Amino acid sequence: MSKAAKSKKHSPRIGFHAPITGGLHNALLKARSLDCDTVQIFSRNPRGWMARPLTDEEIKNFKKVRAETNISPVVIHANYLINLAAADPNVLEKSRASFREEVERGVRLGADFLVVHPGSARGSCEADGIRTCAESLKLACDGLELNSFRILLENTAGQGECIGHRFEHLREIIELTPQLNLGVCLDTAHAFTAGYDIRDEDGFVAAFESLERNVCLENVRAVHFNDSKADYNSRVDRHWHIGLGHIGLDALRRVAQHPKLAHAAFLLETPQDEIRDDERNIDVLRSFFGDSKRKNH
Ligand SMILES: [Zn+2]
Ligand SMILES: [Zn+2]
Repeated sequence: MSKAAKSKKHSPRIGFHAPITGGLHNALLKARSLDCDTVQIFSRNPRGWMARPLTDEEIKNFKKVRAETNISPVVIHANYLINLAAADPNVLEKSRASFREEVERGVRLGADFLVVHPGSARGSCEADGIRTCAESLKLACDGLELNSFRILLENTAGQGECIGHRFEHLREIIELTPQLNLGVCLDTAHAFTAGYDIRDEDGFVAAFESLERNVCLENVRAVHFNDSKADYNSRVDRHWHIGLGHIGLDALRRVAQHPKLAHAAFLLETPQDEIRDDERNIDVLRSFFGDSKRKNH
């Protein structure tokens, strides 16, 4: 890390969702090559129920590269099939088993956080979905030694019948699972399309007051820092490049500079259609803290 990067005063830790092609450790190397502090990964194929078990060799290598690259925190995003709020008993059972496996993998890798969506209550109601989700989290972690590893609930866009689009939902799940010490991952694009209008000052203040009141900002350990291709209140989940979507540069700058989020890991999940997309979005986020482009550019 350069001296300039070390002396950054107000910048939170910055990173992005990096690919694991060719091995999990490659995500760390990619993050380091873009001068990032933190990274988010999948620990496995995100679209299949079955995961190939991690070998001791893979874990050793991941830890070695992590120590060399000094990337922290390491955030894992749970796979997309998991639905901890499912009304279908079959899906629920598979989801709980798959989530337990995600937790075990995360702990073995020495990761810091595991981000998961509360799930879809399709076929039941929101209140049942919230209770089922809390029960799933407890069962999936039953008997596991989590140590400092922490599960983060991510707010959702509220697509379909997904729960978690109101900060109140996250609070209810957290209150039902005190033994898990759950944290929160705030996704800016999801919040915006779920009906938190952070574009103007009043809406911004109201949204963060609600977040603070319900989950306490110090428990927000990760921010998925995304602009939105979908419009306000559309309940559609479509991430977009920073400053080019419906949220816009000014509102996203305010989020990035929020003094009570300085401890959180800021992770971009913006589209990666072109090879330089990540670099550009990281540079925009960095510019909010007065950091000019990375030294090697
Ligand atoms: Zn997510
Ligand atoms: Zn997200």
